[in-house]
Amino acid sequence: MLTLAREALADDSWQRDAAAFSALVAEYEKLCRQSRRLVTMGDRMQQTLGNLNRDLAESERKYRSIFENVTEGIYRCDSAGRLVEVNPAMAAMFGCASPEAFVAEVGLLHRLFCDPDDYRIYEALLASGDARRYEARVRAPGSESLWVEISASAVEADGVGLQGVVGVLVDVTERKDMIEEMCRLARTDSLTGMWNRGYFMELAGRELNRARRKGGDLALLMIDVDHFKAINDTHGHDVGDMALVELARIFGESVREVDVAARLGGEEFGVLLPDASAEDACAVAARIARAVRSAAIESVAGTLRMTVSIGLASLEQPQDSIDSLLKYSDIALYAAKKNGRDRVEVYRRSVCPRRSADNGPGCPDGSGG
Ligand code: GH3
Ligand code: MG
Ligand code: MG
Repeated sequence: MLTLAREALADDSWQRDAAAFSALVAEYEKLCRQSRRLVTMGDRMQQTLGNLNRDLAESERKYRSIFENVTEGIYRCDSAGRLVEVNPAMAAMFGCASPEAFVAEVGLLHRLFCDPDDYRIYEALLASGDARRYEARVRAPGSESLWVEISASAVEADGVGLQGVVGVLVDVTERKDMIEEMCRLARTDSLTGMWNRGYFMELAGRELNRARRKGGDLALLMIDVDHFKAINDTHGHDVGDMALVELARIFGESVREVDVAARLGGEEFGVLLPDASAEDACAVAARIARAVRSAAIESVAGTLRMTVSIGLASLEQPQDSIDSLLKYSDIALYAAKKNGRDRVEVYRRSVCPRRSADNGPGCPDGSGG
């Protein structure tokens, strides 16, 4: 067509409109150049699009491979918290045969949380950004409960808002159990299984603060086995150990759940009685002494019988600390030993008003036992 136009230009009959026709040809040439450029651009775009599709497929393949093969559980939820998909590791974590069956069975993510409050906190963390290594106890229908660490973040799209949530779940049950066991070991006495002195002091401190806040009662018993050295000498150290275990059982049975019984060392024990007046504590001490007296352990050296001496101190003044209560009950215990053993002595500060406030033990009923 361009050639035809040029020929027409050469023809004289077109002379009159030559200028207009020449402009038309120039315009046409420009259009041809632009269309060639557009074709080149289109080719390039096609190539770029192809590359992008290939990269996308490659990245999808990588994501799928991670999703299918990692040992951590991965889940995807919609914006209403409904599970959309989970990976095989997550289904296996809860003892479920297939991811599809797991999604169908659980349905909503919140059903996995043993404590609804944990799910509320998880949601709040997500709302404020993301949840990072958030620990919670979870359980699927019919499965054992697990401790998991959850890291999750919201998936949002421009203009659409929240689309859903993607999260990763790591089973930390073993680690959690191990830490719990280590804490338990650090707090308990290995022979009797009772709390040890360190943890007793911690719990006692807490109870003292609580009693001060509420203006409630608090009493402390210090218990020491009478002539325990002779028990060891007569029956042997192993039987002595058995006797300590038996004492732990007796103390455990003689006190309430809120009371704190501990082995403070050797053959010495402490019992903290929250909300117990001196009178209540006296009754508990007398019950313990009676139970110990009536227990019997058979050994090759014969029947082993025991008695205990008990010192009792109560929270009376705001400045009383656990250390001072321990000191007072120890003074009362010393008095119980001195007064013939197998008895309860109560530490009284106001036996004689003229003496200092801390003037030593008194005895509620003579024998105490
Ligand atoms: P008292 O009536 O004055 O308290 O006399 P005691 O013999 O009980 O007191 P003493 O302090 O002289 O002796 C305590 C004994 O407790 C000595 C120690 O060998 C024994 N003992 C401490 N810890 C254990 C233990 O874990 N197992 C055994 N079998 N004996 C222990
Ligand atoms: Mg003793
Ligand atoms: Mg002792």
